[in-house]
Amino acid sequence: HYSTKSISSARVKEFLASPQQMLVNGEWVDAKSGKTFATYDPASGEVLAKVPQGEAEDIDAAVTAARAAFNEGSWVRMRPNLREDLLWRISQLILERADDFAELESLDNGKPVGIAGAFDVRSAADCFRYYAGWPSKLQGATNNPSMLLAPQEAEFHSYTRREPVGVCAQIIPWNFPLLMAAWKVAPALATGNTVVLKPAEQTPLTALLLGRILVEAGVPAGVVNIVTGFGDAGAALSGHPNVDKVAFTGSTEVGKKIVGAAQGNLKKVSLELGGKSPNIVFADADIPSAVAGTIQGFTLNSGQACEAGTRVYVHKDIYDEFNAALAEQVRALTIGPGNDPDSDITPLVSEEQLERVMGYLDAGKREGARPLVGGNRWGDSGYFVEPTVFVDTTPNMSIVRQEIFGPVAVSIPFSDEEEVIEAANDTEYGLAAALWTRDLSRAHRVAGRLNAGSVWVNTYHALDTALPFGGYHQSGWGRELGPESIDLYTQVKSVTIAL
Ligand code: ADP
Repeated sequence: HYSTKSISSARVKEFLASPQQMLVNGEWVDAKSGKTFATYDPASGEVLAKVPQGEAEDIDAAVTAARAAFNEGSWVRMRPNLREDLLWRISQLILERADDFAELESLDNGKPVGIAGAFDVRSAADCFRYYAGWPSKLQGATNNPSMLLAPQEAEFHSYTRREPVGVCAQIIPWNFPLLMAAWKVAPALATGNTVVLKPAEQTPLTALLLGRILVEAGVPAGVVNIVTGFGDAGAALSGHPNVDKVAFTGSTEVGKKIVGAAQGNLKKVSLELGGKSPNIVFADADIPSAVAGTIQGFTLNSGQACEAGTRVYVHKDIYDEFNAALAEQVRALTIGPGNDPDSDITPLVSEEQLERVMGYLDAGKREGARPLVGGNRWGDSGYFVEPTVFVDTTPNMSIVRQEIFGPVAVSIPFSDEEEVIEAANDTEYGLAAALWTRDLSRAHRVAGRLNAGSVWVNTYHALDTALPFGGYHQSGWGRELGPESIDLYTQVKSVTIAL
């Protein structure tokens, strides 16, 4: 049977056998308390490695280092071409170690090693490469103010500059550990900020491997600091008076705590939070591709994706046909460990997550919904659940309203466009939405009315570094990726000179 002993890369074995330390001020250090905690392989429950348990005093040292690196000035003023070289080098080094990153990510998070390589690692490298293009393209404007209080004959020259925000706290989740680190670190470095990164306690390993690459690529000491630890470390970071901005990806519940903690010094806040995204299948859709896309929508990463399409609305004329095909294909998915290339559905990240998802499966059944397919835990070791679709739901059931973060969807019939738009928008979230149709007018009309930061037509999970990503309502504040991340990590100054 499966075991972590089947690790294939000698370098990953060596990495896991080496002592794990945090990156503070360019040095690899233990937690000041000496404490460590274990990170587990979710397919077996075995301990993979022990990492330092950073706490408030470690956060303080990292923030001090980031502040010093920012204030010292040479990093902030680094020429754009050199900054571009640096980001490009990071991207290249990630690609050179792509197999190691993919295997380590699969071991720590549980996800399929093929997806980790093809999506997580490649997208992380792409993110650094995309932001490598930005430093020489940052621009201000020359403005033309009226200056009403000045005499008519006075002349002025005014312009705006884009400047870094300062010390950025970046707190990331466990579902796409390396990729979330890239989304945060790359634009912050492109714009001259300094960083304290806090990876999730469930999946700290690829961030630490990224730290080695950042050092190797030549990121100056103190510019990126990485502190591993639990929520208390995240709380210390988001409340720290010497931090200028906090960027968080994770649960809406913790996002609200971040907002509270940020109040002390009114640090800038950007949040990428939960979702309960609708996936609408109109009667004129290409059914085979809609079925395949729907399955991809709620099972990618075993459903542990904030943009997962978990509320499936299907037109009543095709409801039975669609559900039959959906159930058949979901049943055909292979469940297994992430390092088996045949696995479609891999374990959830942790025992806690397994319990949470099982709680929702029980609640769904208790509240009167019926599993069309799935509905149970799979196996008795590791944190696996069956991919599940519920039918016979009502709009207020917890499985219809709350984010489950497992491979669980509901399939709900609808009669017309107006009704389904209303149902789709009946949520506290607004991260993503999808619709399947061959009608071009309908596609644009409905896309315009769905309250979501990303809308996909005839596809799902179409994420790209060039496209802004973020949420309406309680799915977050601000947009990451694309030029929008440049806005998040810069502030604009207007300068006026009396000529
Ligand atoms: P999940 O519930 O999916 O595990 P969380 O939102 O709890 O996701 O965690 C995302 C990140 O937020 C992790 O790095 C976690 O350690 C961190 N975190 C948890 N609690 C807090 C908190 N009170 N303040 C700041 N960060 C926190």
